[in-house]
Amino acid sequence: MSNNILVINSGSSSIKFSLFDMSSEAERASGLAERLNTAEGEITIKSAEGKLNLKLEKSDYRSTLEVIINTLTEQGLMDTLPVAIGHRVVHGGEFFSDPVLVTADVIEKIKQCIPLAPLHNPAAVAGIEAMESLYPEIPQVTVFDTAFHQTLPPKAYLYGVPYELYEELGVRRYGMHGTSHQYVSSEAAKRLGLGEKHGILTAHLGNGCSCSAVVNGKCVDTTMGMTPLEGLLMGTRSGDVDPGLHQFLHDQKGWSIEEITNVLNKKSGLLGISGVSNDMRSVEAAAEEGNERAQLALDVFHFRLARQLGGLAACLPQLDALVFTGGIGENSRSTRALIINTMKILGIELDEELNKTNGNELGVISKGNGPKAIVVNTAEELMIARAAQALI
Ligand code: AMP
Repeated sequence: MSNNILVINSGSSSIKFSLFDMSSEAERASGLAERLNTAEGEITIKSAEGKLNLKLEKSDYRSTLEVIINTLTEQGLMDTLPVAIGHRVVHGGEFFSDPVLVTADVIEKIKQCIPLAPLHNPAAVAGIEAMESLYPEIPQVTVFDTAFHQTLPPKAYLYGVPYELYEELGVRRYGMHGTSHQYVSSEAAKRLGLGEKHGILTAHLGNGCSCSAVVNGKCVDTTMGMTPLEGLLMGTRSGDVDPGLHQFLHDQKGWSIEEITNVLNKKSGLLGISGVSNDMRSVEAAAEEGNERAQLALDVFHFRLARQLGGLAACLPQLDALVFTGGIGENSRSTRALIINTMKILGIELDEELNKTNGNELGVISKGNGPKAIVVNTAEELMIARAAQALI
């Protein structure tokens, strides 16, 4: 019997998807539908058979998901409908600390979290509802980016603002990239044979970046907050700024709250400082060629990363491992080397040769008897597929 699970990540104008054959956990196909709800909607599907590009006649969520499923079938990538659909949902608020099967109540709760993730959660709801109307017989599972961080204690998740704002509106830190932090920390513990008692720092460094402190498999603190804007410098996001900056920019530039939020989300970070790109490869290449602003962007990126990792280390009873993941963590040797070599306080000894090859067969890039540094490729989609399989 077929054992395919389709994993879907619905964004405001795009849908990413991966099809897994869960008998072997092999990814049969992956793809991206872009420019949804416009006349230019299109889909790209990649598989062992090659790459396929399709223009969409209708690019609303429902029509797009139907085309995705039909195309995967026509291309022989699945012989029957998937046994389950797994959805990535950014914000589960305080409702969800584990993946769940979709019910009317679950959809209602995801909707209640929309004020906390106004760009992401409506898209997730649209994706779930479209799937439900198309294929009511297929069970759907939601996996929340915030779920792994629900173990944060109040001292880590409360902001220093009136407590009533937490009670009335849920103003607190939630953290994101939870599926990735959970996967790479458990994978590192397993590969390094750390046993049940361990202290791990995880650095998920992609276009979005966040770090977490994990003690005995549970997250105790993380750098993202109520929204994915808090914490580290990212591709286009500023990370931490003085909360007084909003008033200052409003007074000096006449910008509205929306304009300021847009600048902090879309025009800041590596892009904002370097003026070159939000893409680490391009910023590293420009710095290499002597572009001073690109070098400055790298300096700020690394300095803030080190400072946040140092802060998170304070939450650990002991440090056993530092895990790098995400496009930058998995590939940027210079980022890993800089962090390990400058953060002597962590007591990790870099193995330059292993770092050059992105780690040995386990991903380890350190040597000696101290804490280990390890590269673990993140597998968020596979984690969602596994969660879906476990629930059906
Ligand atoms: P992600 O969001 O996880 O796909 O990561 C995207 C980020 O990873 C971008 O900033 C890329 O430039 C960065 N990245 C991917 N490959 C490399 C590489 N070889 N060296 C440095 N950065 C990389």
